[in-house]
Amino acid sequence: MSVNITFLGGTGTVTGSKYLVEHEGQRLLVDCGLFQGYKQLRLRNWTPLPMPAADIDAVVLTHAHLDHSGYLPLLVKQGYKGRVYATPATCDLCRILLPDSGHIQEEDAAFANRKGYSKHSPALPLYDKHDALVSLNALHAQALGKTFSPLAGWKATFSSAGHILGAASLLLEVAGRRLLFSGDLGRPDDLLMNAPDLPPDADTVLIESTYGNREHPKEDVLAELGPALKRVSARGGVAVIPVFAVGRAQAILYAIAQLKASGDIPHSLPVFLDSPMAVHTTDLYQHHPDAHKLDDDGLRALKHVATMIETPEQSKALAKRHGPMVILAASGMATGGRVLHHLEHYLPNHHNMVILTGYQAPGTRGATLAEGGAFVRMHGQDIEVKAEVVQLQSSSAHADATQLLDWLKHMKHAPAQVYVVHGELEAADVLRQRIERELKWRAVVPEHGSTWPT
Ligand SMILES: [Zn+2]
Repeated sequence: MSVNITFLGGTGTVTGSKYLVEHEGQRLLVDCGLFQGYKQLRLRNWTPLPMPAADIDAVVLTHAHLDHSGYLPLLVKQGYKGRVYATPATCDLCRILLPDSGHIQEEDAAFANRKGYSKHSPALPLYDKHDALVSLNALHAQALGKTFSPLAGWKATFSSAGHILGAASLLLEVAGRRLLFSGDLGRPDDLLMNAPDLPPDADTVLIESTYGNREHPKEDVLAELGPALKRVSARGGVAVIPVFAVGRAQAILYAIAQLKASGDIPHSLPVFLDSPMAVHTTDLYQHHPDAHKLDDDGLRALKHVATMIETPEQSKALAKRHGPMVILAASGMATGGRVLHHLEHYLPNHHNMVILTGYQAPGTRGATLAEGGAFVRMHGQDIEVKAEVVQLQSSSAHADATQLLDWLKHMKHAPAQVYVVHGELEAADVLRQRIERELKWRAVVPEHGSTWPT
């Protein structure tokens, strides 16, 4: 009557989260994420799963970020026929994010074919927008806190994880076992999101470790962002802020609204949100008032602080404007999206600024910028980095190491086994050591592809 977990992603990396839970021939996949960052990781997206997609019986998503949901269109394309359970806000966000992901992959493949820089000819997208739209039919919303049955004999319950709109931790109950998946945990002191719910008791815990070896600074995002924007505005430069369309875009917009209201930055400083996805996501905050901290005034500030840019033509026209101005565009680690064109345009001038707002996975352009790289590779060219690069330490959507431990400490009984996942190797291992030392619990960092009995 064993229950096995196989780690198909999110081990030794923050991307590609996929945890397969098996019991008596039934298979449930928790998260269905894309690998991002290093090429070796991205290539894993092309490697077939260890079993046919049609042999998976159910999927549960903890939240909508692509490193947790972005493989879904491919899974459905490969023959997955079951349901995909997620919270209502996660379902809404997937309807925005997944078609966009398909569109970006089509565009990247088309661009590579035009410029002839792909080693494959023709370069193919992993999946296209149509595949993504088809996969949305599998989504089934389940409210936070309500137990549902994803498979006969299995129980599942979502609790709030903070992090982003709709993000959840997941308790799975099968064959007398209680398995808790933390999902991506937010911080207790986020500007927009509520603190994560306290964890229920479980025998087996999968805990994320994005910041497993780091602590957030004491100062808040306003104290970091204010002086940076003031500086770039005074020299007439352009601040490009790569943002995750879901989560950080709204957090940064809200921070800018507060800085303008307090007079810390000029009220007249033009701000553009150049991401149709982020624009639509901002609207979702209104539809899910329980999922965040903002009241009506806060929502209004969020909506009106920036000029929303929808079309590619409007986006291109921004290049003709003079600074000072602020442009927020996706993606947050500069792995794709409209932000690339802005970076290409503004990086070579020292008056300008790039503001990195969240975790930058190794191997991404964002990480190269954060490390002070002199060049960034974009569209097959090396772009010189002359602009000032500012990395906000305080704007993360993830709990830091001590906050992760504090969350675990709320469990009334020690779990039999903790798996430390969703972190680079060092971050995961440092958190593993702290769990063993400070909580005296058994913890491991599982290998990619390994299977463990519970
Ligand atoms: Zn996330």
